[in-house]
Amino acid sequence: MASQSKQADKINVAVVGGGIAGASIALYLSELGINVSLLEKGDDLVNGPPICHLHAGGNFYREISDQQCLTLLAQSVDLLRLYPFAADYRPTVLAVPLHDGGTAEELIPRLHTLQLEYQRLIDEDPANKVLGESQDYFRLFEREELEALALQEPSQNPQSLEQWMIPVAKYVDLDKLKFPLILVQEFGLNIFRLGAGCTLSLQKNPHCQLLTNCAVTNIIASETGQSWLIDYQQKGANKQAEFDYLINAAGFRSGKIDDMLGFKRQRLVEFKAAYVARWLDSDCLWPEVIFHGKRGTPNGMAQFTPYPGGYFQLHGMTGDITLFDEGLVTSSEQSAQPKLAEKFLNKIDYQWSGQEMVTRTDRSINLLASYIPSFKSAKIGAKPLFGAQQIPGGDPTLRAADVSFVNERYARCETVKASSVLTCADEIVRQMASCHLIDPSIKPTRFFPVTQGISEQAINEQAEKLAKQRDYPLSLAHLNVAKTPLT
Ligand SMILES: Cc1cc2nc3c(=O)[nH]c(=O)nc-3n(C[C@H](O)[C@H](O)[C@H](O)COP(=O)(O)OP(=O)(O)OC[C@H]3O[C@@H](n4cnc5c(N)ncnc54)[C@H](O)[C@@H]3O)c2cc1C
Repeated sequence: MASQSKQADKINVAVVGGGIAGASIALYLSELGINVSLLEKGDDLVNGPPICHLHAGGNFYREISDQQCLTLLAQSVDLLRLYPFAADYRPTVLAVPLHDGGTAEELIPRLHTLQLEYQRLIDEDPANKVLGESQDYFRLFEREELEALALQEPSQNPQSLEQWMIPVAKYVDLDKLKFPLILVQEFGLNIFRLGAGCTLSLQKNPHCQLLTNCAVTNIIASETGQSWLIDYQQKGANKQAEFDYLINAAGFRSGKIDDMLGFKRQRLVEFKAAYVARWLDSDCLWPEVIFHGKRGTPNGMAQFTPYPGGYFQLHGMTGDITLFDEGLVTSSEQSAQPKLAEKFLNKIDYQWSGQEMVTRTDRSINLLASYIPSFKSAKIGAKPLFGAQQIPGGDPTLRAADVSFVNERYARCETVKASSVLTCADEIVRQMASCHLIDPSIKPTRFFPVTQGISEQAINEQAEKLAKQRDYPLSLAHLNVAKTPLT
């Protein structure tokens, strides 16, 4: 398609899909004064697969390249600057179990690389100091020190890295682990608070038209080739609108949009689930804890994510907890949309069977209790958090992915981690400017006055509303540590 120059406030952009990618990109473009319509088929925003962890360094993923880890670190710093109200400012502890083939030592060189990169980001812009001091980015704990910490009372308001380790030292079965344990500044990321921030910002911004309950059913290029005609259904009515630029942020259904347009694309889709337990016997403020393990084996990685009110979100990367038989599918020559089995689509579009929900939650509690014995008393706390996510290409281990451009007026955002969304928005603005669809003087930004003007109270209220609407405990919309990290 040939390009045509328009002022920022004249071009008309459609974003299909109001997950974290589409909602953030719509927010970003509207903050720049670009007119955006966000078309989301659901009732509300950021209601896709779960998000509980800010991968600020990708330290969960031993198998990915250092470059992906560095990208995730920089992207996470950006995301925290945009959504500081969505982060739970507590650290993560990485532990390597005895039964695992790896060692803690082999993780350390990469941590040093990440620490240096974080300092470089701070040197570049002091506002990037969102993960605390770079010298505290990670800290190692040997067994002797942990045994001494186990004698101390856990703090309700940890003021040092050592105090954060007390619950781990006290309640984790240290006989099952290799040493050192690693504490790293990867924080919690709250999906309800992300949804709240996006919704409030977009509702307030005059450059955004927020269209929920609006399912896109077909898209064709207009006769001039300069715009897109989008058919959509809104509350039972069939409608059509014309847009200058199209952004596909339809999550695991992105392939359907490619199919409508006749564009080929290789991608994977994976269905996974996390579980919610309530453990009232512990009154400690926990860090997140990761027990490394080989994905897909009975000893797959176990993830223990704390929320207020005694709630914990649990992942177990085993075939009978978080992962599912036939849960990973690929696109084909005929269709850019990988075909998930009906049993998964039914879970996404309708609900789980009560029995499967109980069985899998119990298994997740048992897996975590194999490392934290007193956690055995935890009970099911809510329905699972689950969904399907897309991975562009054919490598299921890819974690840092963002945007691809098919032509001057069509961008696909296929993020694997929430933190990659600002990279997508930056690239889209660069592309629009280079094609003169917006004034070339408009540059990528980290200045979001509308979003930054939203009050903490408004975020709390909206996040609680989303949790209630989705039938989750209100505690899941709250933070354990709603402040900046140790400085
Ligand atoms: C179990 C699990 C745990 C995870 N944990 C984390 C984590 O801790 N941290 C992290 O960063 N990432 C995590 N992820 C990944 C993360 O959830 C996804 O990468 C992210 O949610 C993808 O966001 P998205 O906006 O691309 O897609 P989605 O959230 O799926 O949004 C796509 C939206 O498009 C809408 N849509 C689709 N088709 C149409 C249409 N035709 N018309 C209108 N609207 C349409 C959908 O309704 C949906 O709202 C996890 C994923 C899973 C499965």
